[in-house]
Amino acid sequence: MLSTISNPCVRCGKERIVLKTWTALVGKAKLTYTDTACPDSDCQKVINDEILAQKTKREEIETKKAKDKEERAKLLASAKN
Ligand SMILES: [Zn+2]
Repeated sequence: MLSTISNPCVRCGKERIVLKTWTALVGKAKLTYTDTACPDSDCQKVINDEILAQKTKREEIETKKAKDKEERAKLLASAKN
């Protein structure tokens, strides 16, 4: 089934182009994934940079969380002695 769902670029509003589609089995469900990109390569590059920046920020937060947890565990352990 080919669907033509409108998928405009969040930055420029141009219709995003489908780079590839693939299906994968997740549990018992067959899911279809679609990789899209903005037809404007400069625009897509900015989006990629933003995604990367968000990912980096999220990883930093996760790392900090894990570290805080570790520090708390250490404090608790030393408080017991
Ligand atoms: Zn765009």
